[in-house]
Amino acid sequence: MINFSSDLILWYKENERSLPWRLTKDPYRIWVSEIILQQTRVDQGLMYYKRFLQHFPSVKHLAEASEDEVLMCWQGLGYYSRARNMHFSAKYIVNELKGVFPENYESLLNLKGVGTYTAAAISSICYNEHRTVVDGNVFRVLTRLFGIETPINTGNGKKEIKELAHSLNTGEQNGIFNQALMEFGALQCKPKQVDCLSCVFKDSCFAYINNRVDILPKKEKKNIVKNRYLNFFYIKDGNNDVLIKRREKKDIWKGLFEFPMIETNKHCESSELMLSQEFVQFLNGGETVVKGIKEITHLLTHRKLFIRIMELKVDKHNNIDDYLQVNNKELVNYAFPKPLQAYIEEIK
Ligand code: SF4
Repeated sequence: MINFSSDLILWYKENERSLPWRLTKDPYRIWVSEIILQQTRVDQGLMYYKRFLQHFPSVKHLAEASEDEVLMCWQGLGYYSRARNMHFSAKYIVNELKGVFPENYESLLNLKGVGTYTAAAISSICYNEHRTVVDGNVFRVLTRLFGIETPINTGNGKKEIKELAHSLNTGEQNGIFNQALMEFGALQCKPKQVDCLSCVFKDSCFAYINNRVDILPKKEKKNIVKNRYLNFFYIKDGNNDVLIKRREKKDIWKGLFEFPMIETNKHCESSELMLSQEFVQFLNGGETVVKGIKEITHLLTHRKLFIRIMELKVDKHNNIDDYLQVNNKELVNYAFPKPLQAYIEEIK
């Protein structure tokens, strides 16, 4: 494919989606977009990108914000370590680099949460460094075009595609080449229902010519999803106050708030949980009335969460270290994980 890079860029100029981060080379804005898009679809990320920049229009604004403000802005997007890392890095840029954003691949890698992929994306888009970015779209496009059978979730598969992608990038328009290749995968060479007949590369595409479009790319089977059972207690006292606490441990949802919670290693009856020592510590005598039970299944990349939220009415809570007593109307001012946030919205 002699003119691959120029044909691809030509296709991109005619077909690219109009997205706000494509109208700028400001590294702060590109960084925000790249971090948001790490685990998020473009249509969902777009809203968060605009909102984030409204709240924090510059790295200085982000550095000066509190962690709660940053997490509130990120609420619902998931993978909250991304927001915490950005906040940490913004403070590093302002305090250690005098507010000057890192200007090359190597120094971008010093930012917390920025790995080789994101550093390559920012340095190629903002500084035209000869770095090639490889995501799931690129894997799909190149395995099909060049008939690569190596599973893409293996070390060899990744290496092969990265080297091939880099060799196809002439080094002249690095940012555009990277975005064009990913956009081609997102819009034209899609995972399913591929419209090969309208493709500019159909005459030379290995998969199309050899009828292997539905087979490539190949993946090795891996199954490492772990089940977790989280039992939350929404305990409302006579003043409509509930107990909440910030999650501090190195675990999912670090830094967000939650209700009192007991984690079990299997499904347990609610009555059994309410007799446990862990639960009794939250009560201060008197009657406990169960008002409702909500069951939710929530999927994360490597976890399946079986969430149960029990709504309870008591006369009085116990005062417990680490827990805040917050009026139920004030809960909207705290950042909760997505399933708990949805619950709060539902019962308000
Ligand atoms: S011909 Fe089909 S499989 Fe090949 S690159 Fe084009 S869209 Fe992808």
